[in-house]
Amino acid sequence: MRILIVSDIHANLVALDTVLAQAAPFDRVWCLGDVVGYGPEPNACIERLRSFDLLCLAGNHDWAALGKLDLEEFNPDARRAAMWTREQLTPENLAWLGALPERVPTQAERFTLVHGSPRYPIWEYVMTPVVARANFDYFDTPICLMGHTHVPVIYRYRPNDRTATADLLPENSPVKLNPDRMMINPGSVGQPRDGDPRAAYAILDSDALSLTHYRIDYDIVATQTKMEQAELPHRLVTRLSYGW
Ligand SMILES: [Zn+2]
Repeated sequence: MRILIVSDIHANLVALDTVLAQAAPFDRVWCLGDVVGYGPEPNACIERLRSFDLLCLAGNHDWAALGKLDLEEFNPDARRAAMWTREQLTPENLAWLGALPERVPTQAERFTLVHGSPRYPIWEYVMTPVVARANFDYFDTPICLMGHTHVPVIYRYRPNDRTATADLLPENSPVKLNPDRMMINPGSVGQPRDGDPRAAYAILDSDALSLTHYRIDYDIVATQTKMEQAELPHRLVTRLSYGW
């Protein structure tokens, strides 16, 4: 089976549609959370995702839009965008967001899916091998897929000295998913933060047990224009140009 893995779409429909067109054909979509927040088209992104065979996790921005999180935890721009998102969402889409799970083991128990980390699925940022190492104790499957940092990376567990290493997730080159245990972040569709503004995603081949990471240009200006029309914070508009 060919599974499209996306994360941190952040209501950027132009980026999402570009990824969907480039990644096709695929059998299923796994989304690692933060469908909404920051971007201009939250309802359309939810509806587009729901048109596929979909497994979707809850992210912190999804919870913020629902009012399940204290917005004081957010910086002022993110808070404004969360409040705007909450006003936009239809009752049906709010209900759908509210039913998203925090954590899913799936695919014959081979993969654990979370937004942030296995230890704290909604909030924790896995930014270093030390944090990744601690989190290898919080899931039982060989592989964990996560988002939240908007930075593509692969952490491998080294059983000999019980440490973890971090590697760049190579572009266009399949990574074999055995025998090592790994935590993999496919990067962000709608707001990359690794200095590369292109949309990021991955394709999982569940038969060959390999994962391939891709980056793709999309019409950033089109999304920025929609954000300006919605009067979303200027800093959130400009950051898309730089991928930070
Ligand atoms: Zn996010």
